[in-house]
Amino acid sequence: MKSPAATEALRVTFWGVRGSIPVPGTATTRYGGETLCIGVEVPAAGRLIILDAGSGLRRLGDRLVRRAGKIAVDLFLSHTHLDHILGFPFFQPLYRRDTRLTVYGPAISLQDRLEEVIGGQMSYRYFPVRQVELAAETTYVDLREGRYDLGDGIVVSAAYLNHPLLCLGYRIACGGRVLCTAFDHEPFRNLYVTDPADPRYDELMAREGEAAAVEAAARLGSFFEGADLLIHDGQYTEEEYRAGRIGWGHSPIEEAIRAAAAARVRRLALVHHDPRRGDDELDRLAARFGGTEPSGGPEVIFAREGLVLTL
Ligand SMILES: [Zn+2]
Ligand SMILES: [Zn+2]
Repeated sequence: MKSPAATEALRVTFWGVRGSIPVPGTATTRYGGETLCIGVEVPAAGRLIILDAGSGLRRLGDRLVRRAGKIAVDLFLSHTHLDHILGFPFFQPLYRRDTRLTVYGPAISLQDRLEEVIGGQMSYRYFPVRQVELAAETTYVDLREGRYDLGDGIVVSAAYLNHPLLCLGYRIACGGRVLCTAFDHEPFRNLYVTDPADPRYDELMAREGEAAAVEAAARLGSFFEGADLLIHDGQYTEEEYRAGRIGWGHSPIEEAIRAAAAARVRRLALVHHDPRRGDDELDRLAARFGGTEPSGGPEVIFAREGLVLTL
């Protein structure tokens, strides 16, 4: 029998699964209140990739500094909304000279490069330690859609998602396993007026808008195709989404499940849980949507802090 380590290409640990804002307290002890941060270890190569720098990053950093030896991390940011970067100044390895950190993420524009956006929260207005005082050897890489070779057989591809701010989904391939992410993402939709009774309605525009939305969804579907694990935004139910939250940049759970099934994803882990949801409500949603469909769809998991999945 093979040992588990021999067949394990990626080990995924959830350090924060919450969306929008940290929510500590007695109502969130089981699923956790920290905002998004996921550690992806590549045991065969001794590499660590971190996905997003939400408040969950603080505890991951503490764990790293307790271990002996140098720290080398590739940190991939989906985007720079505050809930995804607020853990960065509290990442203890930043204050050590023997840390090598590469930060990858989308540049909003030529003027708003990643380094300035991340460093912006480390100005005296917001935080007592300035970016120039950090001891770690840090490199920033502005990403666009594309394919990036990290060495050791690890290839990361990036694709634009649908969110009010430029936001990237990732596809991490290593040792024949694939992990995909879409942390803050709303289903693509027709942006033109579709109601013929509306005076702004234009039939041609409405049809083009529909085709563009279908094409964008198909493109993202092939980006997720065949993933062993897809970690996806599941902030709302369909009902909550339709009740005034269209355009906010987040997905209904039902839609995430449909997208994962269409892309033949094996396991779907839902994250970016709404900050108003307590543990009991997440349990109810997990009972309703979680588990494995007999029809052969993906296994649906409501991710919680501390969960470890191996691929
Ligand atoms: Zn978010
Ligand atoms: Zn966001």
